Amino acid sequence: MAEGSRERWADTGFATRAIHAGQDPEPRTGAVAVPVFQTSTFAQPAVGEHLGWDYARSGNPTRDALEESLASLEGGRHGFAFASGSAAQDAVVRTLSPGDHVLIAPDVYGGTYRQFRRVHQPWGLAFDPVDLADLDAVVAAWRPDTRMLWIETPTNPLLNVFDIAALSEIAHERDARVVVDNTFATPYLQNPLDLGADAVVHSTTKYLGGHSDVVGGGVVTDDDVLAERVRFLQNSLGAVPGPWDVYLVLRGIKTLALRMDRHCDNAQACVEVLRGHDAVTEVLYPGVAGHPGHEVATSQMRDFGGMVSFRVGDEALARRICASFEVFTLGESLGAVESLVEHPGAMTHMSVAGSPLEVPGDLIRLSVGVEDVDDLTEDLRQALAKGTASTRDL
Ligand code: PLP
Repeated sequence: MAEGSRERWADTGFATRAIHAGQDPEPRTGAVAVPVFQTSTFAQPAVGEHLGWDYARSGNPTRDALEESLASLEGGRHGFAFASGSAAQDAVVRTLSPGDHVLIAPDVYGGTYRQFRRVHQPWGLAFDPVDLADLDAVVAAWRPDTRMLWIETPTNPLLNVFDIAALSEIAHERDARVVVDNTFATPYLQNPLDLGADAVVHSTTKYLGGHSDVVGGGVVTDDDVLAERVRFLQNSLGAVPGPWDVYLVLRGIKTLALRMDRHCDNAQACVEVLRGHDAVTEVLYPGVAGHPGHEVATSQMRDFGGMVSFRVGDEALARRICASFEVFTLGESLGAVESLVEHPGAMTHMSVAGSPLEVPGDLIRLSVGVEDVDDLTEDLRQALAKGTASTRDL
């Protein structure tokens, strides 16, 4: 169904590709929405022959549509859909071998660190956190067995930004691959493959799905050797998404461009509230001129995204503020239409407590949604006021 679709839409703009690439009307019935092929197996015309699909772990037409769409949006030739962002990451890391070494930033999604530390390290992989913003430090940390540079930019939860092009040059001179977790930026704001990265991973649970109703992941690459290995692992490990979940991600992707513009505008408005507030000691947002990654973000991103973190100087105060919102929902995850607030130290990043990646206790993370901007800024103001006024330690 999706065959040739990506090529057909290749010269169109992002929003057009988000709606059409991989999602042409189904040829037999003309169905405009990609059908949900809820089947585990496919009838074969003869022994050893099939119509393109034989078993749904290996491939499913609904999943093909998402894989085409992801590849089109990231500008790569090979797209793969997974059951979660974590499964996508695992498949990419497992293209390495025990004995290989990986460099990661000292600020990544807590589950990413946990996977390296508690799954891949016992498997035989070595890894070290290094400040990827300091290119000399990256060169100094490089080992003869370093085979992969793992970049998350902007990072979760500190919103650090790393120079994908410069880091790719360092890695490629040393015969290593560069993987970028593009979950925060989305392909609408940043295309790592164009900047020199070898592969992009996504938690499609976040902005691509965009409605807090599905868990999924994706990998896109232009590297045929890497793609072959990821394809093998996708099928062998079997962490594939079901067709309904794929359908939800595809449906979310159609409005990604619209939503991201609104996420960025609303985030900027929240940043203005935070910057002028006495209780806020630091605002972490790459769109702010004083942010250490502002220049790199300006050069490699089209806008600065919908995630905003800030510090208030005191953990008890941070917890009180988190509990004081009325429009923002207190909860994990990010990137959906509804605004969310969380305390990373006690929620998404609990798994890095006591590690070099431990996040400050006074940190609050906002995933700014697409509600009316005045309702969000008003809620932020009242939560800051209520949290600051309260003497009750939650
Ligand atoms: N990468 C980032 C930046 C994330 O924030 C997350 C989850 O929060 C993941 C990867 C893992 O994705 P999933 O929860 O879909 O497994």
